[in-house]
Amino acid sequence: LRVLGLESSCDDTAAAIVSSDGQILGETNVHQHTVHEQHGGIVPGLAANHHLKNMPLVVHDTLKKAGMQITDLDAIAVTRGPGLPASLAVCVAAGKTLAAVHAKPLIGVHHMEAHALMARMTSSVVQFPFLCLLISGGHTLSLVVHGINQYTMVGTTRDDSVGEAFDKVARELQVPWISSQEGGGAGPALERLARDGDPLRFALPVPMDKADSAASPDFSFSGLKTRIKRMREQNLFNPVVRQDQADVAAAFQLAATKHLRKKTALAFRRAREMHVDVTCLVASGGVASNLAVRESLEQLATSNGVDLVCPPPSLCTDNGVMIAWAGIERLKLGLLDPYTIDFIQRWPLEDLKTMGYRPRA
Ligand code: ATP
Ligand code: FE
Repeated sequence: LRVLGLESSCDDTAAAIVSSDGQILGETNVHQHTVHEQHGGIVPGLAANHHLKNMPLVVHDTLKKAGMQITDLDAIAVTRGPGLPASLAVCVAAGKTLAAVHAKPLIGVHHMEAHALMARMTSSVVQFPFLCLLISGGHTLSLVVHGINQYTMVGTTRDDSVGEAFDKVARELQVPWISSQEGGGAGPALERLARDGDPLRFALPVPMDKADSAASPDFSFSGLKTRIKRMREQNLFNPVVRQDQADVAAAFQLAATKHLRKKTALAFRRAREMHVDVTCLVASGGVASNLAVRESLEQLATSNGVDLVCPPPSLCTDNGVMIAWAGIERLKLGLLDPYTIDFIQRWPLEDLKTMGYRPRA
């Protein structure tokens, strides 16, 4: 099977053609970080305009790289949600139109399901059920993945996502965004700074460590960000002095990593309470490309008797491959959608269970 996947839920316009044996036959991703960086965050209207301009180009380029035509495809998969409405509208309209004109099956994909399933393409270890930690720019979720459409959410963030926290702390340190090819946002730059820093100089408390919240598998990152903002306002560090930047980055990364690990340990415990014997721990989303985070989760997985599996960094951040791969997984089960589907801006993963997908006649 060969499926074209289209993604434009946020600020990347991406397409890929993937085969059911996990080969990437063609792939194109146009980033917009240079467009949004000067605004200090993603501007939805600008993002949608760029998707409109770039979507036909990435589709054309991907087909060309694969040496294929639309008629050679078995299905077209699109990100249906969640995400920015005007951005989602572009990939949904493009995919529906291509599929309808060529009478190809259409598959609407949940963006976070695609992040969660990505590791099944890159590693044969990832069999159902598995524990999954999605640590991205918009989400911080721990899930038990029982199968396609079958998710139990264990923990979610009560405020900011971990990626958002990395980006906001980077802003306090006046660290610029860098190319999304390295993972998007300012996370990679912050990770690089942290390598040269002393995490104990500005030691930060691990979030939700007090008695009232220590037992909850949820996450919270806004406190760390606020604390660093205060520290800057009180001139406890100078954001243009490199050693200060490095020490704050190291302190933040250490506290964030410990928090992720503690809450993921609780997710393992919750899975055991549910009598689910997980095959591995998957970590995906941009923050899963952070080496300190990976090392810490690897130790945790090992102490729970399983492996940690992370897709390569380029497949942890947004891409067309994950949408195409999720499309293949759904196509195999006959989970197709009518050409009339619309995007879904807010879409809890657990809702997939009850959405009553029916194979198209
Ligand atoms: P969502 O899928 O939740 O809508 P997204 O797809 O936009 O969000 P991703 O592209 O998966 O998010 O991840 C981007 C985030 O990951 C950014 O916040 C970025 O700073 C962070 N990130 C990327 N690389 C690293 C890294 N090496 N260390 C820490 N954070 C990182
Ligand atoms: Fe994403």
